[in-house]
Amino acid sequence: MKFDSRICVAGGDTLIGAAILRRLLIQGYKEAINRREPEPDLTDGAETEAFFARYVPEYVFLAAGKSGGIQENMARPAELMRDNLLVTTSVVHAAWKTGVRKLLYLASSCSYPRNSPQPMAVGSLMSGPLEPTNEPYAMAKMAGVSLCRAYRLQYGADFFSVFPANAFGPGDDFRPESSHVIPALLRKMHEAKMAGAPFVDVWGSGRPRREFIYSDDLADSCIYLMQKYDRPGPVNVGGGTTVSIGELAALVQEVVGYRGVLRFDSSKPDGMPLKSLDSGELAAMGWQPATPLREALATTYDWFLSMSSTEAVWDREDRTSEGTVHSDGE
Ligand code: GDP
Repeated sequence: MKFDSRICVAGGDTLIGAAILRRLLIQGYKEAINRREPEPDLTDGAETEAFFARYVPEYVFLAAGKSGGIQENMARPAELMRDNLLVTTSVVHAAWKTGVRKLLYLASSCSYPRNSPQPMAVGSLMSGPLEPTNEPYAMAKMAGVSLCRAYRLQYGADFFSVFPANAFGPGDDFRPESSHVIPALLRKMHEAKMAGAPFVDVWGSGRPRREFIYSDDLADSCIYLMQKYDRPGPVNVGGGTTVSIGELAALVQEVVGYRGVLRFDSSKPDGMPLKSLDSGELAAMGWQPATPLREALATTYDWFLSMSSTEAVWDREDRTSEGTVHSDGE
């Protein structure tokens, strides 16, 4: 990938897509197509092909498709699954048709079987049943991985998949009904602090463990892999720190400065008991995440505060899951 290569970040307004775009510009890649051009409806194959035929990207980061937290996955499984299947099929096919040199597909760690040995290595994929709270979404994301592999096998396309840990950061989705745990807790504790509320409810037992990655670090890893990775993949990208939801809630409480009590609400689901990735391959290549969890939480909280002083962007109806306004949204 050269500084003047034509690059398309499909889902350029999702949490991860927007972070990749920001990072590309910082690193000097000037020809990011969706910096200037609005994305078509990527669920529409014909529109997507026309867009690719017009701009003929050489490199594609596929970060598009709706996603959401545990509640959104349980409430809207059909929408999440359908959207991801359509978007992935459109973009992968259009990329192949226009001769894209390399495509990086953002998969999801929830596609690992629920009882995978931890940390989860790519050899565990497809080895057992999925976590039921997000099975439809996880199946759609896994179908994307398989689709990239199929285009590689049949056509020799250099398409590969990346499994990130749970991503968060500025631009995240802060709506309670669809957000992931970090933006949810930041918002709940901020609002409780402002209202002087004595309790904040944390869903589930607090015992599940998750590995989190800051969106800017994930974006950096994706650009690094696009430049250097020359195997079929897939590749895991962990954030380096695995914490329990209880530990995370305590850390968020410190960052926000909320002095009340955390109550664990066991009527809400825990989801997967543990999600932690074996990122040994990427570490052996020389890449490590740079941002400590606490610092990344503080930056994300600052972003939330800056937005709350302007407009309530996290309540906008046109937001999609991965945390942003649709142009997309994982
Ligand atoms: P998951 O990684 O797919 O399970 O997605 P989430 O980020 O939505 O949830 C991670 C864990 O955090 C689950 O065990 C949730 O029950 C727990 N959790 C605790 N409080 C909240 C909350 O307010 N919102 C969300 N989304 N999850 C929460």
